[in-house]
Parts: sequence; C-alpha cells; structure tokens
Amino acid sequence: MSDLLAPGAELEHLSTGTRWAEGPVWLPGLRAVRWSDIPNDRIMQLDAASGETTVYRDGVEFTNGRTLDLDGTVVQCSHGLRRVERDADGVVTPLVDRWEGGRFNSPNDVVVASDGAVWFTDPPYGLSEVEGHPGEQEYGGCFVFRYEPSSGVATPVITDRIRPNGLAFSPDESLLYVSDTGWSDERGEPSRIHVYAVGDGTASAGREFVIPAGVPDGLRVDEAGRVWTSSGESVQVFSAEAEELLTIPVPERTSNVCFGGDDGRDLYITATTSLYRIRTAVTAAAAAPP
Ligand code: MG
Repeated sequence: MSDLLAPGAELEHLSTGTRWAEGPVWLPGLRAVRWSDIPNDRIMQLDAASGETTVYRDGVEFTNGRTLDLDGTVVQCSHGLRRVERDADGVVTPLVDRWEGGRFNSPNDVVVASDGAVWFTDPPYGLSEVEGHPGEQEYGGCFVFRYEPSSGVATPVITDRIRPNGLAFSPDESLLYVSDTGWSDERGEPSRIHVYAVGDGTASAGREFVIPAGVPDGLRVDEAGRVWTSSGESVQVFSAEAEELLTIPVPERTSNVCFGGDDGRDLYITATTSLYRIRTAVTAAAAAPP
C-alpha cells in the first residue's frame, strides 16, 4: 500500500449512469462533487453526506471540464457554445468564446491561476454530434489559452500541442502540466503529458514529462507537486521528477480526477459511466498567494 493513500483505502463506486463522465470539481460550500456527462448533455452532482446523485442541470450545451474561480464560483468549459463560462449558483454567463475573431474549437479543461487568469485547453472534440455540435475549426490550431478577466482578452500561451486536453499548475505555479491526447488520435502512439515553464502569463520551454500506461486526460497536482492523472483504466501518480509512484486500477476508462472532501483528501475519479472515490493521505495543491 502506498503512503500516498490512507491506510486501508479502497476504491469506492459512488454513482453510475453516465455515458462519458468528465470535469469533476469539489464544491466546498455544498459538500458536493459536480461533473459532466458530456454525451447526455447534462451535469451531475453527488452530495457527499447522503451519497445521493442528482442531475444538477440538463440541456447544458455539453459542458466538459470545470474548476473553481478565486471567489469560489464554478468556471467551466462548454463544447456546444465553444466557450468558457461561469456558473454562479445556476446563473450561467459567458467569459470568452474567441481569439482574434475566430471562435474556439471546444474548450476542454480549465484552471484558474492565483492572479485570476483562466487557462484552458482547446482541442476539437466537441465539434461532433456526440459531444457537441459539428463545426469547423476557425483559428486553425489547438492551443492552450490564457484569458485575463480584467482585459477580457484571451491569448494563446501554448501552440505546439496536437490535442491539448487536461492541465494543472505546480503548487508554486512555475510549471504547467498539459496532457496531449493527439498522440493516440493522430499518430497512433501513446498519449503523453508535457510540462512547460510558466512566468508572467506566458509558458515556454515545453518538454515531455511522462508517457503514462494509459491515455492521460484530466489531471491534478497535489501539495507536494505530484501529478495525479487519469491513465486509461487507472489513475497514476508521478513525482515532479517524473518518477512513477502509484497506480490505482479502476474498472472503467478514467477521464479526470479532483481532490475533495472536508479535509481535501478524497480523490474523486470520473470514469466513463461512473464516479469513484478513494481516500488519500495528501491534498490538492493550494493556490499560490497572489
Ligand atoms: Mg479532457
């Protein structure tokens, strides 16, 4: 048993019934986990105390990844509306949907930095019947963008990925990890995670970080800078030095993870039809001080 997990920790199966579960986030105020069921165009929510899963909203324009803003409101990606948006207690408002006149492809996953900037990936998976609406790629790439709320402008920060997908900062925000599922899709090679140096709102010096055992989609970083990533039918944990530390087998293909629970030590895992949880001995990286 790894010391990254609580003693005796076992994978719990909490909820089922989705077609492709993605985009989990812990909502401290509600003590709930919210996640997307993308093909069914709805958002699910599990109340941690009762264990009850409900449909939070349906007809949501195919939301995908989500995170919390600095003020605790939900920021989420919309495949259908090709934008990043805010959900404040059910009131959904757009943040940004284009760069230099071209609409985004279908924002996939999102993180908020300690300066309030919103970083998100933009592969084209939502330009399809199943996960959004068919459409054209308008700016001709699949970039990672940084959206600055004060200016209302999104700027490309990473342009050399094939299909940038999940993303997460290191605890001090000096590094940004980006999974790239384009290796599997476009090249028939194992997908991988890249890491970039970050500073002054830019990213540079990207390099390959790890090739997990299975396809990496969403990922999170813990307090010690370890990377917890979806990896096919497992969750894998890597040190900041890319050393493989732990593999948690999951009975279905995983898409994403998030830390939650009252002490932040529960790892929630979205995996195809289901939501799983395992008790850990660590917590998520806290936002760096502004
Ligand atoms: Mg994703």
